[in-house]
Amino acid sequence: PPTADAEALQYRDVAGLLPVPDAESDKYRRGVVGVVAGSARYPGAAVLAVAGALRGGAGAVRYVGPAADAVIARFPETLVHQGPPGKAGRVQSWVVGPGLGDSGRDFLDEVIAEDVPVLVDADGLRLLDAARVRSRTAPTLLTPHAGEAAALLGVAREQVEAARLASVRALAEKYGATVLLKGSTTLVVGPHPESPVRVNPTGTPWLATAGSGDVLSGLAGALLAAGLEPLDAASVAAYLHGLAARHASRGAPVIASEVAAALPAAWRDIR
Ligand code: AMP
Ligand code: MG
Repeated sequence: PPTADAEALQYRDVAGLLPVPDAESDKYRRGVVGVVAGSARYPGAAVLAVAGALRGGAGAVRYVGPAADAVIARFPETLVHQGPPGKAGRVQSWVVGPGLGDSGRDFLDEVIAEDVPVLVDADGLRLLDAARVRSRTAPTLLTPHAGEAAALLGVAREQVEAARLASVRALAEKYGATVLLKGSTTLVVGPHPESPVRVNPTGTPWLATAGSGDVLSGLAGALLAAGLEPLDAASVAAYLHGLAARHASRGAPVIASEVAAALPAAWRDIR
């Protein structure tokens, strides 16, 4: 239930925001998502972020990182780029961080320097410099869970859990970014102090499973690449993600790759 100062996301709002291709569309207009994710230790995070981006309606996904073999084995649709992200070619949004490990700092810095929307999640958040994020002119979207949010704010996780609304606002202000705070209720807020806080009503505890956050990141990245404002991209992503989990679960345990695979069913629900 929405707390004071927060508003529940409405089905109607989400339906009006879904990007649907028209006769003039090509894959570039639909949006190219760059994904910087995965490591030798966590190749699956790259696969799941790419899955979220492809199922989120991206016209194309470019993958940059060490898990290209795993990504291609699962999604031959992916465009793989060897080398640094700055040379990857046309990209309308970047998703950086899932499973990246500590070695991704250079790639993160390069992506942050690009003048397109950037979503930072997971390990990317640990490497983030607030001043550099604040100085960006293109939008930034951060998608921490409570533990990651606590680390960004320099407080204990319990403090974030006890004051989620204040925490998400504090993060948005500190980084000058849109912030999606994950958890039992997902909150989304924009960088302006007057921004509404949106509460996603579709979540389910079945989403508390490894890799589901990586799918959300790719999905939100696709919506950013399609041209949605960051607050809308984050809101629609959370809404679809929860619905997809419900479709895939129907009361039974669900795994993250199934959440991605159920995104078309969620999409049809609200079209
Ligand atoms: P991550 O923490 O990055 O793995 O992401 C976990 C995903 O599951 C996020 O989308 C969370 O909002 C969601 N999630 C985790 N726990 C719950 C819960 N108890 N109820 C609803 N959604 C949850
Ligand atoms: Mg995560």
